[in-house]
Amino acid sequence: MKEQAKVIIIGGGITGCSIAWHLAKRGWTDVLLLEKGELTSGTTFHSVGLVSQFRTSPALMQLMNYSIGLYDQLKAEGADGIGWHKVGSLRLASSPDRLKALQRQVSRARGIGLDVGTITAKEALDIVPFINPDGIEGAVHIPDDGWMDPNGITLEFAKRARELGVAIKTNCRITGITTDGSGAVTHVETNKGTVQTAIVINAAGQWAPRLSAMVGALTPMVPMMHQYVTTRHIPGHELPEQTPVVRDPDNLFYLREEVGGFLVGGFELEPKTWATDGVAWDFTQQLLPEDWELFEPVMEGALRRIPLIERAEVIKLINGP
Ligand SMILES: Cc1cc2nc3c(=O)[nH]c(=O)nc-3n(C[C@H](O)[C@H](O)[C@H](O)COP(=O)(O)OP(=O)(O)OC[C@H]3O[C@@H](n4cnc5c(N)ncnc54)[C@H](O)[C@@H]3O)c2cc1C
Repeated sequence: MKEQAKVIIIGGGITGCSIAWHLAKRGWTDVLLLEKGELTSGTTFHSVGLVSQFRTSPALMQLMNYSIGLYDQLKAEGADGIGWHKVGSLRLASSPDRLKALQRQVSRARGIGLDVGTITAKEALDIVPFINPDGIEGAVHIPDDGWMDPNGITLEFAKRARELGVAIKTNCRITGITTDGSGAVTHVETNKGTVQTAIVINAAGQWAPRLSAMVGALTPMVPMMHQYVTTRHIPGHELPEQTPVVRDPDNLFYLREEVGGFLVGGFELEPKTWATDGVAWDFTQQLLPEDWELFEPVMEGALRRIPLIERAEVIKLINGP
């Protein structure tokens, strides 16, 4: 392993690998990314991979808009492994208040040049015929949204970063960060040795607070459980691969196609925290036990809007922090 690097990135999830490549593209190639497990073994490996530009702040909207342009470009360059499905998305308003809120968001989004607009319930039904239109006040259609393979895109970033000279070391855990009297970082300690550096980027996901604590800094973050269910396809009702992502916040669920079946995730009413005293270092490539009680309101909402789901055989409920 290198004994010195201009920049050390802690964490080989999508955040760390994306930062590594973006730094390298700008000429910062003396970069060492350290990952305590394998790449994507934190939260990234079980992400649903939804990509939406329709966010609450203009800054986030612009960031997501950049991401979509980037995924288009990578796909055009032949990076099929990123699994970029530009299928569009529909955000349903199942209450008058939700419609008003969405309309306000639409005008903000248009203000920064995004291609979004509200449509009627009938138009929404034309796009996703499997929904029950009862109570839909309107919807927002975002043609450029989609979903992707979170592992694929992370490995693509890592590959491109390596090609530009970034060093990536897996199974290497940062155990300490040393600073001088003024608080400037001088080196990091790992279970594989010491590396000198002046710049450390904390991209350690749910472990970030523990890393920050090594230099007396506070990262105000609480790990939360988040669940989604996958189903087999229903014979005769297979979802096409081009099925848009559907979000229905009033009914607490989002949905995308997964191998012809449904993937249904939730906006939990009472989300549960997990490992609030710090996530264990050896929690790697792991999930949490299924919590059907927590997921019940999500499933009920999804069934109200899409009764067809009742006929689908459940494969698995994923509970990931
Ligand atoms: C069930 C679920 C579904 C989701 N769906 C979506 C979605 O559809 N769309 C979306 O945008 N987001 C989604 N998210 C959120 C998204 O997955 C995360 O925001 C993202 O994966 C976080 O990536 P990360 O790189 O920041 O963290 P991680 O992937 O957790 O990576 C951090 C890495 O740091 C490493 N690390 C930690 N400590 C150390 C150390 N001391 N030394 C070395 N390495 C260390 C870890 O091993 C880990 O690999 C979802 C999340 C969950 C839980």
